[in-house]
Order: sequence, then C-alpha cells, then structure tokens
Amino acid sequence: MKAALYRSHGGPEVLEYAEVPDPVPGPGDVVVRVAAVGLNRLDLLQRQGPGMMPGFSLPHIAGMDVAGEIVATGAGVPASRVGERVVVNPAIACGRCDFCRRGMDHLCGEKAVVGGNRAGGYGALCVVPATHAHHVADHVDLVEAAAMPTVYSLAWHALFETGRLAIGETLMVHAAASGVTTAAVQLAKRAGARVIVTARTDEELDHARRHGADEFINTTEKDVVAAVMDLTRGRGVDMVFDHLGPALFSESVRSLRPKGRLVFCGTTTGATVQLLLPEVYRFGVALLGSESYGFEEFARMLEYCWDAGLTSMVDRVLPISEVATAHELMASDALRGKLVMTH
Ligand SMILES: [Zn+2]
Repeated sequence: MKAALYRSHGGPEVLEYAEVPDPVPGPGDVVVRVAAVGLNRLDLLQRQGPGMMPGFSLPHIAGMDVAGEIVATGAGVPASRVGERVVVNPAIACGRCDFCRRGMDHLCGEKAVVGGNRAGGYGALCVVPATHAHHVADHVDLVEAAAMPTVYSLAWHALFETGRLAIGETLMVHAAASGVTTAAVQLAKRAGARVIVTARTDEELDHARRHGADEFINTTEKDVVAAVMDLTRGRGVDMVFDHLGPALFSESVRSLRPKGRLVFCGTTTGATVQLLLPEVYRFGVALLGSESYGFEEFARMLEYCWDAGLTSMVDRVLPISEVATAHELMASDALRGKLVMTH
C-alpha cells in the first residue's frame, strides 16, 4: 500500500510518501481502506520528536482520525461487515488492567492509540479492532467523519463528563478557531449554554461566530477578565474550558464566578503555569483536569453528532501525498477548523 510515514524525527521534510507492505488483520480486526484522515497537533509533535506516546517506534505511520470502508475482516469478525463505511475510535484500551476491568477503560495505562503508537490513517490501509470501527451515518461523508473523532471526543468529555456543563450556564473557551474549540462551541450551544470565545484576531472570532458562539473577546484589544465581567454583569462565567496551557490560565481562573469550574487539558502553549493560590481557594474555584474519553462515551458522542446537524469544521482537504504541506499549514496556525487528507 501507499503510506505517508517518517523514519526519523525532524521537520516536515522527513515525511515521505512511499510503498510499504499491506497490514495483516489479526483475530477480531478489520482492515479499513482509508478514504480520509484528519490532521492533529500530535502528528506534528511526534514527527518533531521525541515520540510522546508510550510504545512509539520508528518508522511511524501517523493519523488518529480515520474514516473509510472495511475491505477485509480478521478471524471472528463477520464478513458481512465488508463494505461498511466506518470511522475509527483511535483509543484501544488493553481490556485486562485493573481500570479496564472496573469499567474505567479511559484510564487504562496500556492504551494503544491508532496513529499514536501504532499505524494510523496516513496509510492507505489501516488495521483496527472491529469494535473500534463505528458505522458512519449515510448522510455524513467520510471527509466530514474524519474531522470528528479527536476534537469532538475531547470537547465532549471536557464539557459534559468532567465539567458537567448545564443548560443556562455560561462557558468561556479560548482559541476560537481551533478544531477543539469549534467542537466545544457547537456542543455547548446545543446543550443550552451561552458561549464566550477568545482569540487574538477578529477573523478567528468570526469563525466561532459562524459555528454559533455568542460573545467574543479579542485578547490583543481587551483584558480577558475585565471583558468577561462586562459580559456577565460582574458575576464571572460558570465554566472555562482551557486547552491552551499557560497562555491564559490565570485569566481563566480569574474569569470564573465563585465556585466556578476550570476544565483543562492540552499544552499547546506549554506545560507549566504559575498561579496565585488565593485566587483559586478564596472563591472555591475547582480546577478539573480532563482525561481521555471512554469507549462507551465515544460511541454515544458519535450517535449524537450524526443526528445533531453540526456545521462542518473542515477547513481544507489535501491529498495525502501533500502531507508535508499539511503539516506546515498547521504549524503556521493558518487553519480554521480541521485539515483532512484524502487517499
Ligand atoms: Zn487497560
């Protein structure tokens, strides 16, 4: 098969589009002929090196967000699944550890991740467990499906499982034009929340406006905390979803109402923050780290998304042979929503 891969770490120039052996399905697996694969920041970080996921090895075929058609099945999987259009849940828990056996597979420490520490959708064929190949609704095309898994599951888990966002609450999300924020805006609006977004440019804010956000803060023009207090009549927001890291972490804390929740994950702008502890404890603010999503949750998220009439977040579509250009586009922050590559 053809695949985009890299044999050593480095810049986009280490990516090559080459012929490699076809993968062979094991028992319980299916082979997906990949139609489309979404680009994620992890793809760039691991290409640059070192590999972040336990068990990562070179050469690596990246690509966590995979959509395509089942073309073969391994032992124990009915051949009737051949021809099915599917999207892949990339997180494969071990099924054996203490967490998995207690129904907390999202906390599994032995997790394999399609495109993270095993071969992903940058290859024309991708082998995954049949249980992790989810049916794609007929009205959804595979490019759209490939834009969904990572950003919607991350936003879904953060907003509803970790943050318990409720109808009528006010939410603030940073990085208005990012894929995760676009997903969060759409989901939060459908859950009945009022959504404030922040970004450094009006053009990024306009992107969030098109996806349903209510209020907009340009962080180069306004102080975030003062703007939030204006928008909430001095009360503060009920919840902040911060997937940036340190860039606005302190502002996130200070924008909350008393007893508000700051839900965080991601280190796009770094991994270390400085906090004034009284700002956290004085008003009983909760700092909630948001971990990975669970197997059951992913299936529920997809079912919801198929029916919810979400607006498309696909910004660009490129052929997989132009993978180096795709990585450069993401690195330059030129994307508004998701970039999807097609085979
Ligand atoms: Zn496990």
